[in-house]
Amino acid sequence: MNKECIKSANWHLTTRCNYACKFCFIKNLDSEIMDLKCAEEILVKLKDIGIEKINFVGGEPLMHPLLFEITKISKDLGFVVSLVSNGYFLNRKSIYKLSSFVDWIGLSVDSSYERVEVALGRGNGNHIKHVLEISDIIHEAGLKLKINTTVTRLNYAEDMRSLLMNLKPERWKILQILHIKGQNDPYFGDLSITDREFDYFISLNQDNAIIGEGKQVFERNNDMIDSYFMLSPGGNVMSNRNGNYSLVPFNGINKQDIMQTMSRSKYVKRGSVYAW
Ligand code: SF4
Repeated sequence: MNKECIKSANWHLTTRCNYACKFCFIKNLDSEIMDLKCAEEILVKLKDIGIEKINFVGGEPLMHPLLFEITKISKDLGFVVSLVSNGYFLNRKSIYKLSSFVDWIGLSVDSSYERVEVALGRGNGNHIKHVLEISDIIHEAGLKLKINTTVTRLNYAEDMRSLLMNLKPERWKILQILHIKGQNDPYFGDLSITDREFDYFISLNQDNAIIGEGKQVFERNNDMIDSYFMLSPGGNVMSNRNGNYSLVPFNGINKQDIMQTMSRSKYVKRGSVYAW
């Protein structure tokens, strides 16, 4: 696997979500694609420019009415297929259905305490219990599990290792809360943390013994800016280079154009290409 090329893309299929996380930076974007043919054209184009792994994110991707069909098309085109969900709509039936087309499921969990999740807007008090239940089913169905944790003022002093040992993910991605103008302005001031506070979270949680060496990925604000190849719900290329989102039409884009929306060196540096 050539680590110098952009090999993965995040497609924010929808901004719809049943949760209301205060730090969420995908709230105001263009309209989602509701036509399978259009979705397929975008996926074919991604394949043509060398993308190997497609990660469907949101919003809550399971709220997109065509999610199952789009993951199937992706699998048929030969992508490694991943989705990141808050888990609410996942159960034994939906996980097994997805397992035919999806290789990875990412679940978002920010704390071992329901009261913290509720205060963040992540669910109504049953989030962690549910994630523990469905993580077992994800393993049982033979899918790889990733956990995403956003570190804010409410959890930066928390040791989450015990929860993670129970979840047993293949990968644990830990993200410093990121301000994106026009998306999460109202709450950012109360929830933001300094780099030192993020380092404190790392000092409490960095431990190869939890899930294995090299499987924890810590991303500071600076690592997250300019380092993702992202598509908007409407299939446009998104850049967060200037602290907000700017959209570039995907039509006619080539590898060179992608490099104008993001930094290849930052993409490589944050460990974006791994054994998926
Ligand atoms: S679950 Fe995800 S998409 Fe939904 S509000 Fe929270 S961060 Fe945003």
